[in-house]
Amino acid sequence: MIKVNLGLCIGCGTCESMCPDCFEINDDGKSHVKENCSESCCDLGDIVTACPVAAITVE
Ligand code: SF4
Repeated sequence: MIKVNLGLCIGCGTCESMCPDCFEINDDGKSHVKENCSESCCDLGDIVTACPVAAITVE
């Protein structure tokens, strides 16, 4: 299960640009995991690493 720590997310958009099927910047300026995210459509490990504030975790 993918989670975004909203307290850490700065809304940079990196995760959304790497996988728009899983991440979406909402009106609050934070990234949210989309309901239809399959977790296999993209390389989550790369996205976790790419997040500049380490806000994304995969359990
Ligand atoms: S990459 Fe990290 S900081 Fe940037 S929008 Fe995604 S969760 Fe937020």
